Amino acid sequence: AVTRRPLIAGNWKMNLNHFEAIALVQKLAFSLDEKQLSDVEVVVLPPYVDIRSVQTVIDADKLLLGYGAQDLSTHPNGAYTGEISGSMLAKLGCSYVVIGHSERRQYHHEDDELIAGKVRAALSVGISPILCVGEGLDIRNAGDQVAHVSAQLLAGLDRLNAEEVGKVVVAYEPVWAIGTGKTATPEDAQEVAGALRTLLSERYGEVAQSIRILYGGSVKSANVASIMAKADVDGALVGGASIDAEEFVSICRFPE
Ligand code: PEP
Repeated sequence: AVTRRPLIAGNWKMNLNHFEAIALVQKLAFSLDEKQLSDVEVVVLPPYVDIRSVQTVIDADKLLLGYGAQDLSTHPNGAYTGEISGSMLAKLGCSYVVIGHSERRQYHHEDDELIAGKVRAALSVGISPILCVGEGLDIRNAGDQVAHVSAQLLAGLDRLNAEEVGKVVVAYEPVWAIGTGKTATPEDAQEVAGALRTLLSERYGEVAQSIRILYGGSVKSANVASIMAKADVDGALVGGASIDAEEFVSICRFPE
């Protein structure tokens, strides 16, 4: 059987200036040892303006922490005021980029086509997309969550071959659980993660066994271990709790 290395990714959202970012990364580095950082891959996803500072701390201290961005443009360069390209992020050493977060789908009206373009833009510069999918409360109440997130996933992976799909991380984030304090039960998370892996396997074959499927939505140190214990859940995308050093460190130590 394939063993998938768990990934804990902290989405800082629009929080922390670059000084605060440096302080947080230093605290994480101080609190997590080499063994913990090899058992679990730990990644921070700061706002764009913090990335250079985070890179400097991580490089200077040869820290085993990864980092990435929360979004990118579909365009490689040009007259797109306010946008940031994949190659700019790659130059800053980003390994990951969040794509299709529900806050961007909702507040910036990002649709599946745009999201698929962003996934391809990230892969074209060697950055792994963390592709977010998730249902709203109405869809969950109607029992249509698996169909809904399956459609979002296939749309986000549009035009990719199996090798490219193998570089994608999937984040299942039920919208009703994001920032609300309501966490899906481990069984809810497994139901969807398992269905997504089956779908990936039917469409792309063997590579589905190595793709990491994260759960996101009010993950905390108190609930992380029970969710991670599920067969198809390979990590967490953590929002609110990721800017609290102590809490995020406890989450990253979930195997202990
Ligand atoms: C997120 O923003 O991806 C998220 C899961 O947020 P929170 O952990 O705050 O629910």
